[in-house]
This record gives sequence, C-alpha cells and structure tokens, in this order.
Amino acid sequence: NEAKAPDPNSHIESRCAVTPASAQRLCKQGVEVTVEAGAGNLSGYLDKEYEEAGAVVINDVNDALSTADMLVAVNKPTEAQLSVMKKGAIVVGHLDPFFQQPLIESIANKGLTAISVEMIPRSSRAQKMDALSSQASLAGYVMVMQAANHLPSILPMMMTPSGTIKPAKVFVIGAGVAGLQAIATAKRLGANVLAYDTRPVVAEQVESLGGKFLKIDIGETGQTKDGYAKELTDEQKAKQQDAQRDAIADSDIVITTAQLFGRKPPLLISQSTLALMKPGSVVVDMAAQSGGNVEGSVPGETVVVNGVTVIGSGHWSQRVARAATDMYANNIYNLVSEFLDSETTRFKLDLEDDILKGCVIVHDNKVTNEMLTNAYK
Ligand code: NAD
Repeated sequence: NEAKAPDPNSHIESRCAVTPASAQRLCKQGVEVTVEAGAGNLSGYLDKEYEEAGAVVINDVNDALSTADMLVAVNKPTEAQLSVMKKGAIVVGHLDPFFQQPLIESIANKGLTAISVEMIPRSSRAQKMDALSSQASLAGYVMVMQAANHLPSILPMMMTPSGTIKPAKVFVIGAGVAGLQAIATAKRLGANVLAYDTRPVVAEQVESLGGKFLKIDIGETGQTKDGYAKELTDEQKAKQQDAQRDAIADSDIVITTAQLFGRKPPLLISQSTLALMKPGSVVVDMAAQSGGNVEGSVPGETVVVNGVTVIGSGHWSQRVARAATDMYANNIYNLVSEFLDSETTRFKLDLEDDILKGCVIVHDNKVTNEMLTNAYK
C-alpha cells in the first residue's frame, strides 16, 4: 500500500479518524487500536506507520467490528457495519443526526451507543475535541485558496513600474469559525476584507483580524445559549439582503459561511444580486451541499453564472486531508482519553458529564438528546 495524493474532484472521504501518532498515544494508555488497511492512505499515512505505532492493521473490517468496544470514524457507519457490532458498543463520528433520523433510530434499536461529534458542546473544556471547529477552520482557509485560484487577478496590492494593481475586495458573510479563518487568510494574502454576521458580538473579532464589519440594522438578532445564530424573520432576511447588495456588487470575492445549527442554512444571495457582480468575480458557497447560501450554486461543483464563478465544491477540509486528519484524530484522541478509565482501559460513559450529556445522542435503546427527540417528532 502507498500514500496517494487525494483527487481534488473525488468525493471519496480522504480523512481518517486516527493517525499513527494518535494511535501510539492511545496504545500507550492501554487501548487496543485496530485500523482498516489503507485507511490513512489518502491523508498520507501508511499501514506500516500505524503498525510501528502499535496498532493492528486488518483487512477484514467485519471481524474487528464484531469485537470492538468503540468504532471511531470520520463519517456515518453503514447499516451493514452497525449490524455486526456487539450490543453496547459505541459509534463515534460525524453522524449528521438532525438529517439522519432513520440511521440514528437504527443505532438505538440495535442497542448501540452513539456519540455525534457535531453535538460536542462549544465550551472551553471541550475545545480540544471540537471537530466542527477544527474542520471549519480548515474550510475557511481552503475556500479562500479556491477563490484565489479562480480569480483572474491577485489578492494583494502590487505596485510595480508596469503599473499598480489594487488589493482585491473580499466580502465574508457569516463570521463563525470558518468565516473568521477565511477573513484571516484573505488578510494574510493582502486583500481588503469586509464581513457581516447576524451575531453582533463577532464585530470585534472581525476587526481584530484586520477586517471591516458591515453594520446592518435588522433589529434584535441575538444567539442561542450555545452561541448559535437564531433564524431571522422574513422581514429581517429581506433587510439583510438589501443592505448587502452593494457590498456584494463591489466585491471580487464573496465567501458565504452562514449556518443555522440543526436547520437548513439561510439563503443570502439571490440570482438578481449575483447578476450585479463583475464578470470574473468569484463566490464560494460553503453551504452548497446542505441547501445553499447562494441561489444558483451547485452542490459538488463549480459553475459560471453570467461570468461569475460560483464554487459549491464542498468537502472543504478534505482538500487538505493531511491537516484535516491530524486535527480530527487529535479531537478523537482527546475525547477518548478524557473519558478513559485508567484501570479498566474502557471508555467511561458518564452521562452526567456536561460534554457527554451533549454528544451522546443514543444510549440504552433510546435517542437521548432532547433537541433530536424534538426534531424527530
Ligand atoms: P455556524 O457554523 O453555526 O454558523 C456560521 C456563522 O454563520 C455563525 O457565526 C452565524 O452567526 C452566522 N450566520 C447565521 N445566519 C446568518 C445570516 N443570515 N447572515 C450572516 N451570518 C449568519 O457557527 P460556528 O462557527 O459553528 O460557531 C457557532 C458558535 O459556537 C459561535 O458562537 C462560536 O463563537 C461558538 N464557538 C465556541 C467555541 C468555544 O468556545 N469552544 C468554539 C467554536 C465555536
């Protein structure tokens, strides 16, 4: 087996939930780590490196699944994988629980326990296991790089005897983890950056990165107790779209990263606003695959609409698979080691713990997370 460069156009998962380094740290703590042969190939890790770290590399996944106490993966397990797992085993991954009700209920029916990494609380204590943040940070970087690659110009100002090129204008809508990293990346490349978010608390963060915050008065917006944006009223949505129009028309690059936790992302840019942009400008829709911030973006593709390149390719962090794997494997290691009982070397499922209360979504044959049981009604 050999390490391979991931095909940037492929949608095959290129990340892995363990690295040789994280496997070694787990093994040192007494955990038996088994890795599917080739699992690290697309992020640049070879089977022999996992073996040297102390892990067992296997070809027959079913054999390992039937005895494992815990399956750690990047994405959702398949029904076939779940059906060979032993009762009481724990499944960990991006389970996409708000949109995967049948799978989550099937995990409950099989008597397995599920930990959804998307439900890990955004608290200081849980930061080291926060996979949403680690992957969103990389996404912010990747989106700027993709936009820069499609722009028929450059981002920094360039003053030469042959003439002066003005810095590119970048507008970032949604300044959460991904948006802030996009702002920082575009600034580092020398662009002029403007940003907007419905949570006014982020204005200061945008400015501390050297960006300008677009002030729009749409009335009370606020955020949920977990820090997530609240959905706007129809009137507020219309006001936001009106107030952003000029900034969008004036931008060389627009990057949209707006999400609403557990719901479809908001539409931010209509076809008519897109039509105001200069030919050659670039829009990146981070949410293209989950419903779209931009009307006309195509999930998984880059399209040109009236001369404007609209990137909806998605799978952002996978495009830097090595970094994404390193960060995700650290998140998983931190989760496992936080709750590892040093005597039994088993994962201690303390359902009174704040972190596990949030992210254990299935236990004892039931969906245990209230947000999900409400969403499933
Ligand atoms: P997210 O992915 O849910 O959303 C991205 C951004 O889109 C958010 O900033 C949101 O306010 C914004 N948004 C939603 N609707 C919008 C609209 N109509 N127009 C413009 N912007 C819109 O957010 P996230 O990056 O996952 O962060 C969620 C929360 O978690 C934030 O409060 C963040 O500060 C917090 N957080 C905390 C920690 C920690 O303390 N450990 C770590 C990471 C994130």
